[in-house]
Amino acid sequence: MAFDVVVVGAGIVGCSVAWRLAREGASVALVERGEVGAEASWAGGGQLVPEAGREGAPGPLLDHWLAALRMYPEYVAAVREETGAQLELKQGGRLLVAHEEGQLVGLREHFELQNRHGVRAEWWEGDQIAAAEPALAVAGSGQPPVLAAIHFPDHGFVENRRLVPALAQAVAKRGGLVRTHAPVSRLVVEGGRARGVEIAGGERIAAGAVVNAAGAWASQIGGTAAVPVGPSKGQMAALELRPMPLERIVSFAGVTFVPRADGRLLLAATKENDVGYDKRPTLWAMQHLLAGAMRHMPQLRQATLAETWAGLRPRAADDMPVVGRDELDGLYWATGHYSMGILSAPATAEALTGLILRGQSPLPIDAFTPRRFAGAPAR
Ligand SMILES: Cc1cc2nc3c(=O)[nH]c(=O)nc-3n(C[C@H](O)[C@H](O)[C@H](O)COP(=O)(O)OP(=O)(O)OC[C@H]3O[C@@H](n4cnc5c(N)ncnc54)[C@H](O)[C@@H]3O)c2cc1C
Repeated sequence: MAFDVVVVGAGIVGCSVAWRLAREGASVALVERGEVGAEASWAGGGQLVPEAGREGAPGPLLDHWLAALRMYPEYVAAVREETGAQLELKQGGRLLVAHEEGQLVGLREHFELQNRHGVRAEWWEGDQIAAAEPALAVAGSGQPPVLAAIHFPDHGFVENRRLVPALAQAVAKRGGLVRTHAPVSRLVVEGGRARGVEIAGGERIAAGAVVNAAGAWASQIGGTAAVPVGPSKGQMAALELRPMPLERIVSFAGVTFVPRADGRLLLAATKENDVGYDKRPTLWAMQHLLAGAMRHMPQLRQATLAETWAGLRPRAADDMPVVGRDELDGLYWATGHYSMGILSAPATAEALTGLILRGQSPLPIDAFTPRRFAGAPAR
């Protein structure tokens, strides 16, 4: 049987694209080399934090992130409804904090940048921060005083480790095939167009279109063009705490605290580019995260260290997503979402579904085209 679309890679991006297509009645196969959602989409902090001034935003990338953030409540509600999964989504705000005089001018400029580019943001002074987050101003604790912060009222997080398996379940419930432990070795090209994929061992899965959503490994699928996508290593740690000292996400230079409802306080994250595919946590990264955490909240010294981990963000050579139609007919790309893939997934799924089924994306994605790398060396 030939599917309408075969999606390679069951991270949040591949699962979202497959589910969105299946919701429109397309027959889909989702093919994953390992387990569903076990790579970057498991490792991510789940923050939904679109912000001007990061990675090429403002511009089309910021618009994509903001569109995704607007979609999130309905997207999670629909997955919950289709699967019954318990999914945590909290848009309780985020503070980006300055604790040194020298950081204030830059923070103020950053605040104005948000206002100019349509990101809702408020300027908070020290008293207001201490009232909202008393754990950032514990008298006599030795913590550096918090001078001011940008408050992003719409920012929040999703429990990504639950969301991705639920998305795959939703694909299956819509009649899609979810194949795990099936590494795709190459693209099948016939008559000058993509006709499906071949998995290790030689089995073929035929389809009218192929979506390459293989994350940091997307450029390794045989038969695809040389789109330079590779890994950006990110390391995190989680503390176990009850009661949770913070209400909202708090970002300092070097470490971000993400308070989860399950009693875990996540410490995010290193960004190590060009260190290859080694996913093991390192002493340097843990020292960096834990020292930063204890510096800003000395009361955490007695907290239990629950978990450390690392993952590989898919990063293109120009830090922009790779979403769109390849020069080869029938082949589409959905990767390169770098540090914002959990956030971007619903918008990327919406864009690709329109492109594949109707020939046009409902969202502007021209800046993300894989064709911008025509002739580039592989990463
Ligand atoms: C430490 C860390 C913190 C992060 N924090 C955030 C955050 O707070 N907010 C946010 O939005 N983003 C965050 N990110 C980024 C985000 O996690 C990624 O951008 C996103 O998960 C990418 O999703 P993906 O589906 O493209 O890739 P992945 O989740 O890596 O999925 C790709 C899948 O393709 C599969 N695959 C690869 N090759 C093949 C093959 N040949 N055949 C079949 N399958 C294959 C892989 O096994 C994998 O399951 C973070 C990332 C890290 C590492």
